[in-house]
Amino acid sequence: MPLHIGIIGAGIVGLAHAWSAAERGHHVTVFERSPRASGASIRNFGMVWPIGQPAGDCYSTAMLSRERWLRLAHHARIWVNPCGSIHLAHRRDEWDVLREFHEVAPQHGYECEFLSPTEVLQRTPAANPEGLLGGLFSPTELCVNPPATIRAMPRWLSAEFDVRFEFQITITAVESGRVNNAAGRSWNFDRVIVCGGAEVQTLFPQLLSESGIKLCKLQMMKTNSQLLGWRIGPHLASGLTMRHYHNFDICGSLGALKRRVAEETPELDRFGIHVMASQNDAGEVILGDSHEYDAEIEPFDKSVIDELMLRELRAVIRLPDWTIAERWHGIYAKYPTAPVFSAEPLPGVFVRTGTGGAGMTMSFGLAELDWEQWQ
Ligand SMILES: Cc1cc2nc3c(=O)[nH]c(=O)nc-3n(C[C@H](O)[C@H](O)[C@H](O)COP(=O)(O)OP(=O)(O)OC[C@H]3O[C@@H](n4cnc5c(N)ncnc54)[C@H](O)[C@@H]3O)c2cc1C
Repeated sequence: MPLHIGIIGAGIVGLAHAWSAAERGHHVTVFERSPRASGASIRNFGMVWPIGQPAGDCYSTAMLSRERWLRLAHHARIWVNPCGSIHLAHRRDEWDVLREFHEVAPQHGYECEFLSPTEVLQRTPAANPEGLLGGLFSPTELCVNPPATIRAMPRWLSAEFDVRFEFQITITAVESGRVNNAAGRSWNFDRVIVCGGAEVQTLFPQLLSESGIKLCKLQMMKTNSQLLGWRIGPHLASGLTMRHYHNFDICGSLGALKRRVAEETPELDRFGIHVMASQNDAGEVILGDSHEYDAEIEPFDKSVIDELMLRELRAVIRLPDWTIAERWHGIYAKYPTAPVFSAEPLPGVFVRTGTGGAGMTMSFGLAELDWEQWQ
């Protein structure tokens, strides 16, 4: 039987739930406090990154998401580039981790290819050949344009499934079967899903503060559009990135890499810096990132972080035009022990947040798993 579903938040988690619910024939209304979504979901790299997920359930959820991204591209005519990714090795310990990962990858369900320096350069003009030892290509990663996608999806959901969007409405209270705003207006639903991202102080603040969720600030940059149709090819990640994603935890050689970085460049650990690059449909290259948590988060961005990121990026990639057109930061909520924080604080009221640095990768799959269980 079709239900009336209220969703709070028009970021990727809210939109993923709206899509999965609407496909099942439910009547969906999405509330968003801003005139258009402006949170983590429009501030990210646009990397759908299954390779970064630990083997098993997380990886299969990421692959389910991937399938849905491709479906969205087809039905909603949203730009999704199945570009894959290359992790680059410019240091011996990075090469060791990639080699080890490549050996065990098939038994964990990952599909990847070890590349010589020449093969890396055949796939991307952007790898810095100086000191390049090799790379690991994975075919599963996608590139999306976050601001364009997150703002186009509501239009498509409305047109295709009659999903209602109530922008500029902040929900200040939720009860079973009802949501309210500060002006005293209320809406009734059979089920409510709270997808407020890093806004953890308005709805269920005690639940969220006791959940172990951390807030994390990341600094990002974007270049001008590269000239003459120059394309990066796959997403690129430096050796530093192997410290960041948990898929590499299965490699015994990772410890040596982490120790070397900690001893040689402690400033990178200090600001949680690892570097990656993706290129959107406008030809702009998105560069990042850094990680500062909870009490470390300041409203002001640190130029030292941008300089360190650019130093590390220039060591591993080459771009025709390094002019930085935009700088920004984003804040995400991270639940440390699962891909998403899930709770039902009141009957029929579900909280879904804390997707950390993998919300674009995981949300479509996570929402599908929820709706398979709820129906
Ligand atoms: C810089 C950066 C880079 C990243 N890179 C990647 C990447 O490449 N790949 C990847 O997979 N993930 C990446 N991530 C992570 C990903 O962006 C997040 O996990 C994801 O966007 C979180 O989505 P969300 O819907 O929970 O939050 P949000 O996008 O923040 O959306 C929550 C929405 O809820 C609204 N809201 C909150 N409270 C209320 C209320 N009471 N009433 C009405 N509206 C409300 C907010 O206005 C907001 O629009 C990155 C994150 C950042 C910050």
